[in-house]
Amino acid sequence: MGMIGEFIKGLRVTSRIGYETVFKDGQLTTEYPKEFREKPQRFHGRHVLNRYPDGTEKCIGCELCAGACPAHCIYVRGKDNPPDAPVSPGERFGFVYDINMLRCIFCGLCVEACPTEAITMTHLFEMSVTNRDDAIYTKNELLVNEDGTPNHMFDEDPLADFEELKDGDGWMRATAPGGRAAYEGVIAWTPAAGKERPAEKGQTAEQDRTDEAEGEA
Ligand code: SF4
Ligand code: SF4
Repeated sequence: MGMIGEFIKGLRVTSRIGYETVFKDGQLTTEYPKEFREKPQRFHGRHVLNRYPDGTEKCIGCELCAGACPAHCIYVRGKDNPPDAPVSPGERFGFVYDINMLRCIFCGLCVEACPTEAITMTHLFEMSVTNRDDAIYTKNELLVNEDGTPNHMFDEDPLADFEELKDGDGWMRATAPGGRAAYEGVIAWTPAAGKERPAEKGQTAEQDRTDEAEGEA
């Protein structure tokens, strides 16, 4: 086949894919920001700092997340809890908590490292800023409100999808506890303010867990 033949062959492939993309089920485009595409369950979006249902903060200021972060973008400082009005159930709480989103690679290692499930990732992906300072999220932006609702960067924007922030990091839940695949879908998280923990898709590992438990006995 000569050069013209190769050209026609390529054109046919391009036309076929283009037709399928626009007119068939495989349509890839949505009218963002009027429409939001449903994101994968384990999508790694913007972080939040969670609270327990009684309103106390889950972060105990241990700095494990900062130590695990390969991009060195988390800065945490802990402080002793005031005995008469503790901020967290532990001895200490996260007094300062900053994440530099310009450095973050959204790997989720901070979430995996956290012993109290204080830091999780959401489905929010809109984080554009017009200066570098605004890309540093402080505890003010990260900590959820007492009812569990997160701070949204577009408070008054009718296009803001607040529902997105109700989904914590599905990856973390899917692998808990201990990262073992047999526990996929098992809800092993401690409750958080304002958040329900519905069962995840594909919870079929019950038999595997039974087998595993019998093997360990
Ligand atoms: S997602 Fe990864 S890079 Fe981003 S703050 Fe967490 S550990 Fe660091
Ligand atoms: S978010 Fe978790 S790992 Fe990080 S300081 Fe707080 S409790 Fe420790």
